[in-house]
Amino acid sequence: MSRAQSRPFPLGKRYNSFGSYLKERFGCRVYKVSVDAGFTCPNRDGTVATGGCTYCNNDSFRPHGVDRHLPVAGQVDRGIAYLRSRYRAHRFIVYFQPFSNTHAPVEQLVPLYESALAHPDVVGLSVGTRPDCIDEGKLAWFEETAHRRFVMIEYGLQSIHDATLTRINRGHDYRCWLEATARSRNRGIWLSTHVILGFPWETRAQMLQMAAALSGAGLDSIKLHHLHIVRDTAMAREHEQKPFSLLGYDEYLELVTDFLERLNPSICIERLFGHAPDAQLIGPRWGKSGAEIRRDIEERLAGRNTYQGRLWNPVEDANMSNEGNRTGP
Ligand code: SF4
Repeated sequence: MSRAQSRPFPLGKRYNSFGSYLKERFGCRVYKVSVDAGFTCPNRDGTVATGGCTYCNNDSFRPHGVDRHLPVAGQVDRGIAYLRSRYRAHRFIVYFQPFSNTHAPVEQLVPLYESALAHPDVVGLSVGTRPDCIDEGKLAWFEETAHRRFVMIEYGLQSIHDATLTRINRGHDYRCWLEATARSRNRGIWLSTHVILGFPWETRAQMLQMAAALSGAGLDSIKLHHLHIVRDTAMAREHEQKPFSLLGYDEYLELVTDFLERLNPSICIERLFGHAPDAQLIGPRWGKSGAEIRRDIEERLAGRNTYQGRLWNPVEDANMSNEGNRTGP
């Protein structure tokens, strides 16, 4: 698997777009089809903890139209039919999205994954999960499958700072994430993670420290989210009692630009900001569409004549990514 190139990035972008990478690799735009295979989460069902991460409301990131009562193959057929009619799409990656999609014995997981891969226009899988929800048997299946299909694991992280992970009730620390990614590397599996920028108790320096640390972790792609608060979460209740300071729009444009400048340019960018349905979003409310936010980030990069990796320092990364950040905020 060839890593995405460093600058100049495809299509004149100033960052390494995952969509462009897929287009180059598969010869056409590739669309994600989300499925809900009926999993729960170890951080909710008591395996690790109960209550879940304080910001989490799975309904806020469950795609509209996904029916968890249908078999996976039926959800794939339905999702593909919709994307074909709306975008004339031809190639698809099936995204096992809500909750923790490796939270079952491997014998139960494999038939679900295989049923998604059985569709002739599906080029691969993307599996969202937690770093404490993987084992050698599961990794061996992913590795073997990666010889014939695109296979991606997305390990949630949110922050490299253990004090934050404790405060948001993640139920694992940074070391756990480092160990899971280390075990998954060099096996042909595409490795992704997602992090949140804007926890009000983290300093700007701590947020940017993440770019350096993750740059050396062997990731293939990353999702960046700004902190937003959605209804029916512990964080929403905290915010109601004692309101947090949430990032302003311009503040986020500056922060994400600074973050990209410090990020290894070989890491593809899957997302540049978070999204929550309007009805569930408490804040921040920027009043911008996804296309506008993307455009404004691109304009900010251009306005500063900068690009992903401009301030990347490989030596610093190697030192930082090998150790968990125990100090935290
Ligand atoms: S964010 Fe993920 S790990 Fe946390 S409670 Fe929600 S599903 Fe579980």
